[in-house]
Amino acid sequence: PAALVWLRRDLRCDDHSALYHALRRFPRVYCAFVFDTDILDALPTRCDRRVEFIHASVLELHQRLQQLAWEHGVPGGGLIVRHGPAVPCIVQLAQELGVQEVLTNRDYEPAAIARDQQAAQALHAAGIAFSDYKDQVLLEKNEVLTQQGQPYSVFTPYKRAWLQKLDAFQRTPYPVQRYAQHLAALPSPSTPLPTLEALGFTPTNLPTLALPTGMSGAQQLLQDFLPRLHAYHEARDFPGRKGVSYLSVHLRFGTISIRQLAALAAQQAATGCQGAQTWLAELAWRDFYFMILYHHPQVVTHAFKPEYDDVPWDEAPDLWQAWCAARTGYPLVDAAMRQLLQTGYMHNRLRMVVASFLTKHLGIDWRRGERFFAQHLNDYDLAANNGGWQWAASTGCDAQPYFRIFNPILQSQKFDPQGRFIRRYLPELARVPDKHLHFPAAMKPTELAACGLRLGVDYPQPIVEHAQARTRTLLRFQRPSPSP
Ligand code: FAD
Repeated sequence: PAALVWLRRDLRCDDHSALYHALRRFPRVYCAFVFDTDILDALPTRCDRRVEFIHASVLELHQRLQQLAWEHGVPGGGLIVRHGPAVPCIVQLAQELGVQEVLTNRDYEPAAIARDQQAAQALHAAGIAFSDYKDQVLLEKNEVLTQQGQPYSVFTPYKRAWLQKLDAFQRTPYPVQRYAQHLAALPSPSTPLPTLEALGFTPTNLPTLALPTGMSGAQQLLQDFLPRLHAYHEARDFPGRKGVSYLSVHLRFGTISIRQLAALAAQQAATGCQGAQTWLAELAWRDFYFMILYHHPQVVTHAFKPEYDDVPWDEAPDLWQAWCAARTGYPLVDAAMRQLLQTGYMHNRLRMVVASFLTKHLGIDWRRGERFFAQHLNDYDLAANNGGWQWAASTGCDAQPYFRIFNPILQSQKFDPQGRFIRRYLPELARVPDKHLHFPAAMKPTELAACGLRLGVDYPQPIVEHAQARTRTLLRFQRPSPSP
């Protein structure tokens, strides 16, 4: 008997739930990844850092699996890679290999759930079983419920219950090595792994970014972060400091195990390490949004709070263009948007600032910002992105009401006081003194001349005025919904 493990957003071969279960139950186990044209064809560009990241990580995974098999007496192992629509590819491969079962790790996005249902049906029709396992989250679906047996919709009580439930068992790694002798050799003749170009994509600037790919890249970032973990709670809000882990893209594509991270954090947190406690809470946010998406799939297109589903947002094409192009005249917002455009990453504090700015200052529908992030973020994840946008727009599951409106100038003064971050991404403001850097529009003509800045030429005038925008937003949220 043989089985096929279908990898998707779990591009690693250690502490891997579906792989472990397959190896434990079957004497011959194949592993496959499909470059899914249903997803790739829908991307708006052929130059996408995520595709390059996945491609590099898949290559490394192939080598790791090959090595793991070889170390356990199986020459010729590795990853089978296909390019095409995922479901037919997997069904065909399962039939070619003559496996009894396809095993995979669970996905909580509505489209992925539908794909997996389709795969299960097609496989069953061919006499092949299909099973899925919890892997990408620590606690899933109905594992954390209120005393009334309902899913939580507010984070703080959820986190309390989550921390109680997250015992050592939930953090235990799956010992894939134990049964690795059951890895199968690749079927011959094996097809070579496709190049990025063969997938129809062109190289991006990924290799120039400080973003190592694959399982090795994830461990490298983790090793870099661990000595900084104790200071996370103090440093994490300052985009000019190296305070966070930068692991999100690795969590997104599963090149690192969430259990490994939770085990490390929980161990340190138990010794009273505040940084670790705060970081563990971020991992709880991650699980929380997966859980929300699973129980409320309507959030993909609707506000979590139905009363805010038809807030009368503005079209505002000029304001929208300015936000997308990092030309709002608010340096922290613009520097953040440049970071996103140039690197595919944006610091969490800045995601909150620019999302608040788009929805509360420009009056633009959070769904448009969410889509923009979805196109540009390396770590784009439907659950976290949707949750983050709805949080910022005050339409989501957050106790804070809509009149929390971030002041982009105060945020800048507080979290980038010397403008280290702003200067990195807005070199045109390099000579502006610290005290004016957060809002150059407030400078007098003599001050502008002294640092050689021509407002409206070198750097834009602010596209909205903070106090006016605030008033408009309060009205917008109070206005009764238009009748259908
Ligand atoms: P760290 O601070 O080191 O945190 C560790 C991990 O915890 C992260 O890698 C991430 O997996 C998880 N995490 C941290 N904060 C959150 C959070 N608020 N919600 C869910 N998980 C969290 N995160 C994504 O992974 N993908 C997204 O598409 C995404 N979109 C966002 C959009 C908005 C508007 C906002 C406000 C937040 C969004 N986040 C998203 C959450 C957060 O900004 C990123 O996870 C974080 O900035 C990634 O950097 P890091 O790995 O260095 O994080």
